Amino acid sequence: MSESARILLVEDDARLAQMLDQLLTAEGYRTVLARDGQRALHEGLTQEFDLLVLDRGLPVIEGLDVLARLRSRGILTPALVLSALSNPADRVEGLDRGAEDYLGKPFDIDELLARVRALLRRHRTSVPVLALPDGSLDTAGRTVTTRSGENVILSERESQLLERLARRPNQVFERDDLLATVFPDADDPGVVDTYVHYLRRKLGRQAVTTVRGIGYRLGPLP
Ligand code: CA
Repeated sequence: MSESARILLVEDDARLAQMLDQLLTAEGYRTVLARDGQRALHEGLTQEFDLLVLDRGLPVIEGLDVLARLRSRGILTPALVLSALSNPADRVEGLDRGAEDYLGKPFDIDELLARVRALLRRHRTSVPVLALPDGSLDTAGRTVTTRSGENVILSERESQLLERLARRPNQVFERDDLLATVFPDADDPGVVDTYVHYLRRKLGRQAVTTVRGIGYRLGPLP
């Protein structure tokens, strides 16, 4: 694993949250902790994660509703639900509403870590190549292969910008969102426009569409 996985940890119980946070950090994962459903939704919508570890009983918005809302926005980050509601009907409900895995509380720490590893493994192997309207993006090799078979090499930032758009092909991204996620160390929103220009120069005007007053989305308008 070249870079440590990012995990959004959602748990309102302070002691358990701290224990899980320390446990996952000690395993080398980078964690972001959210203590209620609204915060979890915000973090899940604005940052990229490799895995969600999600409690069900949460203040403001309950865990499965958070997950359903993320899924409805096209966010397919795998989710491991941890819950005291752990009879078969509860687990079925969790899996049917978008969770990839479900573990009852109290849980065994070694089992939790093994499930985290398994979900990350599955996710990682399915990540590197993303579909584009006119071809595909190999994020590891930073190469776009067009339908006609041409290979176009992108810079790291170009590739990251295109990846961000391609992961949610139906979403319109605000400039500020792209600035925060792709260019976190820049403070001039104009850098987003500059890199959109670079992408269009390499891939054609239709590679990225300007949505006036909002921002950008992948590909030509449907
Ligand atoms: Ca709870």
